[in-house]
Amino acid sequence: MYRQIPPSSTLLLNEQSAALAEKGQQVYRFGFGQSPFPICQLLEDALKQNAYRKAYTPVQGIVELRESVAAFHSKFEQRSVHADQVFIAPGSKSLLYTIMCAYADAAVLIPAPAWVSYAPQAELLGHQAILMQTDYAQRYRITAEILERHLIEAAGLHKTLLVVLNSPGNPDGLCYDAWELADLAAVLDKYQAWVISDEIYAPLQHQNQHVSMAKYYPQRTFVTSGLSKWAGAGGWRLGVAILPETYDSELKQAMLGIASETYSCASTPIQYAALAAYSGHPLMEEYVGQQRNILQGIGNLIYLALTKIGIRAHAPQGGFYLLIDFSAFREALDKVGLSTDSQLCSAILNNTGVALLPGVAFGLPQNALAARLAYVDFDGKQALEDISLQDWNMGLSKKHGQKMLNGIAKLGDYLATLSPQ
Ligand code: PLP
Repeated sequence: MYRQIPPSSTLLLNEQSAALAEKGQQVYRFGFGQSPFPICQLLEDALKQNAYRKAYTPVQGIVELRESVAAFHSKFEQRSVHADQVFIAPGSKSLLYTIMCAYADAAVLIPAPAWVSYAPQAELLGHQAILMQTDYAQRYRITAEILERHLIEAAGLHKTLLVVLNSPGNPDGLCYDAWELADLAAVLDKYQAWVISDEIYAPLQHQNQHVSMAKYYPQRTFVTSGLSKWAGAGGWRLGVAILPETYDSELKQAMLGIASETYSCASTPIQYAALAAYSGHPLMEEYVGQQRNILQGIGNLIYLALTKIGIRAHAPQGGFYLLIDFSAFREALDKVGLSTDSQLCSAILNNTGVALLPGVAFGLPQNALAARLAYVDFDGKQALEDISLQDWNMGLSKKHGQKMLNGIAKLGDYLATLSPQ
């Protein structure tokens, strides 16, 4: 008997897209959310210099890196983080799993929509995963009222309440405002719930105005992040977690035990190279700032193009996703037998070559008619070269976003055939 793990929607979509591309059809890749930017030269050089290092490191990570990460996050989150609170691992995904695993019996409360791995991780660990539904009108954010309703229900059933938050969000590209976080913190404190605040896209908040949950609820918030998104280094597998201020030695021992029995430590050369990312070096700051400006320009361009063809979305605030809503076309889609996100995404891919991930993959109801669009189908290296010569502007957004705009035009043509005016 094997565990039942449903196949990842991303992989399925990639297979379908590859099959279309093989037949010679143009595919617009809005499905796969990987940074389009190359790794900063500073990091690449640092990795070369450290390639000779071959010994295992301490499970928690090398001290120098933990100190740099603590200094970086102290400044970024406007609070005081100590190196003792920092864990380094091969990707933040491993750390999310390690944190959840440290609790013996937990309800893991997850907003929906949310990134695809939180619920499967909780279920693999035997925890109860509870989805807290949100919708377009709520900007896909949970409110204090929604949170409290679920906490009350879960509190009677489990010893630990673990709430996952993600801002800027995948799949929606939206952020919690400071007042929303303060409201949530008051409810969380009332139920002594723990929070895993996944802030992996935070340095890519388009206005550079990220607000961390840890600012409002430092006592029980784990913050997770790493190099995968803002340093363009997903394949380097370097994640970080910051323990809550009130962590006790038992929690830490549990996490160290789990980590040492599973991944041992993050790759040693990568840890040393990561020092450059967390150093505050002007080149690194410039590189992250440039990505922010490019993503803001392109994200807005795509958002405006979508609204012109009648698709609803909230303007993106950070990271590189938009969660788009086709409900204005519900009647017309129903008439041609498309009533779920999956049917819709499949029809769109086959008719237009536009690859989107259905909202159901992120925990939305299957008839929400929502889909995730990642606006990363452009040449990040060329975009960084262009922005180093002049300020980013609409002209540059159009130049780099042209292929994506073509895809959206195709999508518009397709939708127009469904609902003749
Ligand atoms: N959290 C979110 C919201 C993500 O989108 C991703 C990657 O797609 C991760 C975590 C995983 O990041 P890592 O590469 O650090 O494991």
